Amino acid sequence: MSTDDPADDIAPDDTTTTEPSDDPVLSVEDVKVHYKPGGIVKRALTDKKVQAVDGVSFDLYENDIVVLVGESGCGKTTLGKTAIGLENPTDGSIKYRGQDIWEAKNNPRDADIEFNDIRRSMQIIHQDPANALNSSRRVKAILSDPLKKWRTELGPKEREDTIYRFLEYVDMMPPEDYAERYPHQLSGGEKQRVALGRALLMNPDVILADEAISALDVSLRVGMMDLILDLQDTFSTSYIFISHDLANARYLAKRAGGRIAIMYLGEIVEIGPPDEILGNPTHPYTKVLKWSTPTVDPDLARQRIQEDPPVREVDVPDPEDPPSGCKFHTRCPEAREVCTREEPELFDTAGESDVSCFRALESHEYWNSTELAGPDDEYGQESTGVGD
Ligand code: SF4
Repeated sequence: MSTDDPADDIAPDDTTTTEPSDDPVLSVEDVKVHYKPGGIVKRALTDKKVQAVDGVSFDLYENDIVVLVGESGCGKTTLGKTAIGLENPTDGSIKYRGQDIWEAKNNPRDADIEFNDIRRSMQIIHQDPANALNSSRRVKAILSDPLKKWRTELGPKEREDTIYRFLEYVDMMPPEDYAERYPHQLSGGEKQRVALGRALLMNPDVILADEAISALDVSLRVGMMDLILDLQDTFSTSYIFISHDLANARYLAKRAGGRIAIMYLGEIVEIGPPDEILGNPTHPYTKVLKWSTPTVDPDLARQRIQEDPPVREVDVPDPEDPPSGCKFHTRCPEAREVCTREEPELFDTAGESDVSCFRALESHEYWNSTELAGPDDEYGQESTGVGD
């Protein structure tokens, strides 16, 4: 069977394919993932916990894209995996089309959507396709597995036709040739295309793309991002995209009309449309990321080499022992005394983004609080008043 709409062609059943709506496909509500670090012995001896994700909320809508950006170890991958049901949160909830994912797993009788259908509707593309594809199996066999599991009504010929069609979707032509290859006979970009095709075979509502282009040669990245976005329209899929690269995040979010979410020590500190996040960043950490993004402007590049980074302290705090108050206060050049004891929530700004910084609130006590002079000092000089 072949139609113009790939969703009609491959939708396993009607459980996961619903009419577009304004309701979120995925709701992440106050999610925390805390765990004891180290091996068995260290875990037994310590009360400390890594706050990998600490109270994160966001919604993902149909055909939406949210790009999680932050330094390594900020919790982006843990948040992404938790959001698609691969990891169990310590606290908070993840809802797929209104159904709590873990309620569906633990109390299947009360669930409106089966856990297996939820899992099938949320797929992942890993950073390194070489590890994600079984090196001893041909592409055809790799793509056959999910079809055999979820599309049991397909016979061998229909399965083969479906595989060829999906190889065409991801620009692997001629598909009959690529289907017979082993992963080691593919380039890095081609392997990632197979991984994308395998994820799309399930007609998912959500794909987590975990640094899915960072292992590719720079010259191939834009092509892969364009393919992902073209197929997003074709398949009506939403993406959680993880990236440490603000330039890639901007490209993806801008083309798809999505949002960028900046993460720091397990929290989203700023989220909004790319033009606001990059054109007019509000959170001091977003400004640091923007400052450290490579530029093609030679004058700006020269100027940055001569500047100190816009932080009070370069080192990232230990996630087992995060700072009190605002977690960014040890590095924030704008930090004041109140930031050391009070934790900001995500506030609405005058624009379209939300930010967790007291500076977004005109009347907050922050503006009359004492400035912090340096990373080793308790307090510095007195504030000069509102807006200074
Ligand atoms: S709340 Fe204070 S420490 Fe945190 S980002 Fe804003 S100014 Fe900096």
